[in-house]
Amino acid sequence: MITCKQCGTQVEGDVKYCTNCGAPLEIPETSQNTSQIDLSEKFKQFNDTADTTAEFTAEDIEKNKVMALLAYIIFLIPLLAAKDSKFARFHTNQGIILFIGAVIASIIAAIPIIGWIIAPILSVIITVLAVIGIINAAGGKAKELPLVGKFKILK
Ligand SMILES: [Zn+2]
Repeated sequence: MITCKQCGTQVEGDVKYCTNCGAPLEIPETSQNTSQIDLSEKFKQFNDTADTTAEFTAEDIEKNKVMALLAYIIFLIPLLAAKDSKFARFHTNQGIILFIGAVIASIIAAIPIIGWIIAPILSVIITVLAVIGIINAAGGKAKELPLVGKFKILK
């Protein structure tokens, strides 16, 4: 919202001239970075998911961070090597979901045209989610992933 210095009209949106009198509008300095702020704001909203870190013991988190992180790369390793870790299991669950997503993406990729468009988008989303998961695991957080974190495969 910008107020016109000429006539006092409040002008909405991304306009350079007053919609009432046509005077050039002075865009406040803060709006220069808006696109950047918008993006990090959007990401924050996107990544605003349940954080259940408090349900895990500090010892478990400390001991099994690496296993939790591996869950997003090769989920089979923590599934076999860190069965007893609740923290590793939390991330393994999400790793498996992303793996299933990747399998679905590769199946969709076989569908001509539509699949060729959707599969790469899915792959990008899965990659972004895996990176978020790895960052959470490395940071010792049991935070749900956006979009897929609600699904629970492992009990
Ligand atoms: Zn005006």
